[in-house]
Amino acid sequence: MSDEMYCPEAGDQLFTCVDCHCSVVFKAGEKAFYRDHDITPPKRCKACREQRKQHMSQVIQEDDSPVAETRLCVDCGTSFNVTEHERDWFKDKGFVLPSRCRPCRARRRADRDAVATHARVWKD
Ligand SMILES: [Zn+2]
Ligand SMILES: [Zn+2]
Repeated sequence: MSDEMYCPEAGDQLFTCVDCHCSVVFKAGEKAFYRDHDITPPKRCKACREQRKQHMSQVIQEDDSPVAETRLCVDCGTSFNVTEHERDWFKDKGFVLPSRCRPCRARRRADRDAVATHARVWKD
């Protein structure tokens, strides 16, 4: 459910959230943004995505497993720890270890979200 007004436009698409099975509007502008940036379109509604994001950061915050590696952030140069739990998580997902500290990663994620939110405005 969205509290914004929704005016259908040509190219808008409806899909079903894989978590709560509500119908989600995938705006034509968003679609273009995802296509242009080669990002996989979302499978979940905004609420479910927020929830997952929150859950993930909680899991990472509660992580008190031993430090596996100390790395230097490529953005701010601060050293940060990668715990064994994190290292296993990244390995498990087939990801490379993060090259940025947690605050820098959070900032980049927020930037990306902001870009995605404003994609429609830019396209107009
Ligand atoms: Zn949902
Ligand atoms: Zn940093």
